[in-house]
Amino acid sequence: MKIETKCLHAGYTPKNTEPRVVPIVQSTTYVYDSTDDVAAVFDDPTKSLIYSRFENPTVMAVEDKIAALEGGIGAMCTSSGQAASLLSLLNILKAGDSFISAATIYGGTVNLFAYTLKKLGIECIFVNADASEDEIRAAFKPNTKAVFGETLANPALAVFDIEKFAKIAHENGVPLIIDNTFPTPILCRPFEYGADIVIHSTTKYMDGHAVQGGGVIVDSGNFDWTNGKFPEFTEPDESYHGTIYTKTYGKAAYIIKARMQLMRDFGCYPSAQSAFYLNLGLETLHIRMKQYCENALTVAKFLEANEHVESVNYPALEGNKYHELAKKYLPDGTSGVISFVIKGGRNTAVKFMDSLKLASNEVHVADIRTCVLHPASATHRQLTDEQLVACGINGGLIRLSVGLENVEDILDDLKGAFAAID
Ligand SMILES: *Cc1c(COP(=O)(O)O)cnc(C)c1O
Repeated sequence: MKIETKCLHAGYTPKNTEPRVVPIVQSTTYVYDSTDDVAAVFDDPTKSLIYSRFENPTVMAVEDKIAALEGGIGAMCTSSGQAASLLSLLNILKAGDSFISAATIYGGTVNLFAYTLKKLGIECIFVNADASEDEIRAAFKPNTKAVFGETLANPALAVFDIEKFAKIAHENGVPLIIDNTFPTPILCRPFEYGADIVIHSTTKYMDGHAVQGGGVIVDSGNFDWTNGKFPEFTEPDESYHGTIYTKTYGKAAYIIKARMQLMRDFGCYPSAQSAFYLNLGLETLHIRMKQYCENALTVAKFLEANEHVESVNYPALEGNKYHELAKKYLPDGTSGVISFVIKGGRNTAVKFMDSLKLASNEVHVADIRTCVLHPASATHRQLTDEQLVACGINGGLIRLSVGLENVEDILDDLKGAFAAID
């Protein structure tokens, strides 16, 4: 199946007389014929349904669809993107370990990595993703167990060189985890460039309609966990009657371990209702992503030509710092998200934003409706000035998430707001 067809059909194939649409299985529990059947499920929870914290048929259909879209062997949905980032790392790291992350990532992820994981004894070594290969190699320590980056960073819109980092991660015997939230698998499939694990905040384009939050972890099945660096995968798990994940589950060791240990213990699973909405969003993802890219490119070109605008950051624009990387990794477009710096700094930015009528002020991005956000006073408020600079944020910076309205209406709205700051 081509990706457009997968959006509609992957993950759920109804049999004779079954519902055409993925049903919402609103049940926390499942019944068994005998005590022995229950016991068998506890021996290996992957064999059948056990309890909603482990699996639910509606959620499973969505997991299989997303795994198919990314080209992975399995996926696990979580209750938020933050939960997906957290679990993707905790599945590999423990107190005393470190990992490397690009500094240019989502602000919420910076907080998680720099503060909360630190409290758990896990060190994040931030690197400049544009640094040379040797500089990045030098950041590795003997206890470094993973590398993390964002395909298209929110909100800096830096394009991450997946192949460069995959190569360096693999030289060091560790996996590369990619947050692929902004491109979605429609615009980029990181496994094709050597990434090992992909995560998403499904709250953004995948849901697309701003109706529910969620996250997902997808496993490529390609990483070799038996290389000696990951004893948790190759030694018996006492919390599961001595299961050895790589032995019992082979290529699926990572994603099954995530479910059996981390979902079991942290419990951040999505509801069946949320999974149902997410599935509806995924069904039109291929159409929506194309239109977002088309509208945003038109808007980016308009902004670039506007006298009030100091700079426009949209990697699909010629002359953008990341244009070459965008051509390689995001040949069909760089999503609906644009950031631009308005002349006059913070106050002008606020006045401009408050003058918009169609676009709304929202702590959201990748909505179906056009929305704007001032990162310095919202999502990135907790960051120090130094961290702000590292994330590429300026006081006049506006993040514009171009929606699916007619682009002429979006342009008219922007023209009106520019007139208001004259
Ligand atoms: C929003 C976002 C997250 C966090 O996801 P939530 O669903 O809000 O928890 C992580 N990464 C990126 C790139 C995001 O945009």
